[in-house]
Amino acid sequence: MVDLVGQYEKIQQEVDEAILNVIRSSAFINGPEVKAFQQELENYLSVKHVIPCANGTDALQIAMMALNLQPGDEVITADFTYVATAEVIALLKLRPVLVDVNPETFTIDPSAIEAAITSKTRAIVPVHLFGQCADMDAVMEIARKHNLHVIEDTAQAIGANYTQNNGRVCKAGTMGIIGCTSFFPSKNLGCFGDGGALFSNDDQLAARIRKIANHGQSVQYYHDEVGVNSRLDSIQAAILRIKLRHLDEYAAERRRVAGVYDRAFAGHPNIITPKVFSRSEHVYHQYTLIIKNADRNKLREYLLERDIPAMIYYPVPLHMQKAYLDERYHEGSFPVTEYLCSSVISLPVHTEMTGEIQGKITSAVLDFFKLPN
Ligand SMILES: *Cc1c(COP(=O)(O)O)cnc(C)c1O
Repeated sequence: MVDLVGQYEKIQQEVDEAILNVIRSSAFINGPEVKAFQQELENYLSVKHVIPCANGTDALQIAMMALNLQPGDEVITADFTYVATAEVIALLKLRPVLVDVNPETFTIDPSAIEAAITSKTRAIVPVHLFGQCADMDAVMEIARKHNLHVIEDTAQAIGANYTQNNGRVCKAGTMGIIGCTSFFPSKNLGCFGDGGALFSNDDQLAARIRKIANHGQSVQYYHDEVGVNSRLDSIQAAILRIKLRHLDEYAAERRRVAGVYDRAFAGHPNIITPKVFSRSEHVYHQYTLIIKNADRNKLREYLLERDIPAMIYYPVPLHMQKAYLDERYHEGSFPVTEYLCSSVISLPVHTEMTGEIQGKITSAVLDFFKLPN
């Protein structure tokens, strides 16, 4: 689905040197590279505070801890997402309240959020799924009206610009009280292992996040509260500093590849190409089609037989996952998510796609629909 080797080879010398420098300095934890990456990402995002941590799941967990969410508090998020979003809610004994998504953009449906709010609701977690932002104007307005926190899960959309109603342009993850991201290798800004970060414009909250991520201590060996151990290591930070300089160019390349797919599949009776939400730039973490009146599983097998990777993100809605079964929800509770889970397929999209390979992929997809039945 991605070509991480090809991407590495283009920056190999720089990356190898940076890794060696960290090894030679042996400042593996919280070294100068981490601080420098933090500041460079703050500048890139125009956000006051970036707090690096060990992975995107930790970022979400630390965000909810820093906001003092208490057992039983309700947190609203999308049914159509990667499990991490709901996992940390459940882990902290908060109550995940799932809502459906918009059938065109795949992101959380604001009217469904309003309908799910109760006196126990404390936070909303919009997920900027597949590389474009949820309707943040609507989400922020609902949050203001009901006095709720907004934690953006921007693991799939780092770098995407969002144009607010008032014309202000900001980066995904900088509109809510906290933004959370992941540097998992296949994410748009990926390191060579695990990594993550939280973003915030709130000074006090940022200090609290830092403390929680560091065993609840603000002074070494003095622990004010129960925290976690969640750090980005210096080698990963050194790699991320280099890749951050290429992030906009990587996003442009992903958009170009998406454009080629869009044109190849335009108007096809069985294929719905991804719809771009007017307010958000799309950075195409995934290029995800909806397949109509045909079996997308058979399409996937057909592609795999031809050595073309294709993935189903995600095959099962959260409310139908064994670990998240809940008497409030049943089959039919979230019809849009259920429909998407049964009809989407994602094609390879990355920064090293050649015309030849993409031509092979589009031809194979189109050929599949020419088969009898
Ligand atoms: C990848 C991802 C996460 C979790 O990130 P990790 O670094 O793997 O823990 C959370 N939410 C979404 C939407 C993701 O895609």
